[in-house]
Amino acid sequence: MKILVVGGGGREHALCWKIAKSPLVEQLWCAPGNAGIADVADCVAIAADDVPALVDFSIENAVDMVVIGPEAPLVKGLGDRLRAIGIAVFGPDAAAAQVEGSKAFTKALCDRANIPTARYGTFTDPASAKAFLDGLEPPYVLKADGLAAGKGVVIPETREEAEAEIDDMMSGRFGDASRTLVIEEFLNGEEASVFALCDGNTAIPLTAAQDHKRAHDGDQGPNTGGMGAYSPTPIAGNAIIRETMDRIILPAVKTLKAEGMPYSGVLYAGLMIGKDGPKLIEFNARFGDPECQILMMRMLSDIVPYLKACADGKIDQMPPISWHASAAVTVVLAAKGYPETYKKGTEIRGVDAANELAQVVVFHAGTKRSDDGHLLANGGRVLNVTAMGSSYRAAIDRAYEAVDLIDWADGFCRRDIGWRALEHSG
Ligand code: ATP
Repeated sequence: MKILVVGGGGREHALCWKIAKSPLVEQLWCAPGNAGIADVADCVAIAADDVPALVDFSIENAVDMVVIGPEAPLVKGLGDRLRAIGIAVFGPDAAAAQVEGSKAFTKALCDRANIPTARYGTFTDPASAKAFLDGLEPPYVLKADGLAAGKGVVIPETREEAEAEIDDMMSGRFGDASRTLVIEEFLNGEEASVFALCDGNTAIPLTAAQDHKRAHDGDQGPNTGGMGAYSPTPIAGNAIIRETMDRIILPAVKTLKAEGMPYSGVLYAGLMIGKDGPKLIEFNARFGDPECQILMMRMLSDIVPYLKACADGKIDQMPPISWHASAAVTVVLAAKGYPETYKKGTEIRGVDAANELAQVVVFHAGTKRSDDGHLLANGGRVLNVTAMGSSYRAAIDRAYEAVDLIDWADGFCRRDIGWRALEHSG
């Protein structure tokens, strides 16, 4: 099979690394890829959201299946365009990708499909948004409707701050993304994510993961795309995964299908797990990054037949996926200053030595090679040092052992990835 993976981050490195192991693969490309992906796939210089160029490439090279990593090409309709010309696609059409592109869409879907989620209202004028606060207890959860690069959620502690935020957001702080505002009740609990493979009609579970969104140790500092993650999770074992499938994922997939927006690809349910079980915080239309990296490390099954079964509407014919029982953890190395301003082009050494450790893979996120072959940082999140172990402690220690072999003066990482897992497992 000839496969094109779209994207160029750590998630796509992990996908390419896993896909490349399959005996079914005869050719693997990645657009645009990065310095690490180049070791396992042929990188093609096309941007991940350049839909026309990706379609042309797929036709010219007789690509059998396109696996779409990030959300931008999904929302721009890459899936629709490829399906229309008969190319198998892993990833939803633009209509179904609205589960990620619009929070108001997802909240309304939760109503129609009876999915447990926070009580909410959707507003386009500040006066009714403020009036809605009357029925809620602080803290308040205010969300820009559209995509705001992970920064569109604000949780003010007081009514006064909430009203000021409403004015600010609705007057265009996040551009058009926040002209429509979703306001929610605050949910207590611990967050985890459950991933499922969907084929338009139905879905099968992958597994669960937990991530660390804040930049600094102790879950302090600004929100980021994710500074580390681990799987499995003590708080979302098989019973919670099953409940999430039955009450959240399957109702969403069945409702979208009935409404003419079949969802195929990976559906990522961001959950708050409290005393009433899992409640949906958000759906994403793609694998999490860096959660994908640990899922690919833990997956024993060949992923390619599963990706193809999603594309072909046959996921119900596949056996359950098998997983390493081991724990996997990934630590993100980011450029100093991330998520604000940071330097690009600084040199990184020692990645090969880290990769030589048993059960360690260093996935590349923002990297490139200099003309003379040196590895350079080329983004905010740069490397994902991923390790497995027989316990959380063993996996975490191995990941940091690998981190310490990497010599990058301009980078930093959190030193406490997995602290919740250690706390739960005693
Ligand atoms: P990201 O891009 O980081 O996933 P997002 O912009 O898509 O974020 P959400 O995932 O909906 O937004 O919310 C971001 C974070 O805000 C959640 O991970 C959670 O910590 C917190 N949050 C969101 N909704 C609630 C809620 N109803 N109650 C408590 N916390 C919430």
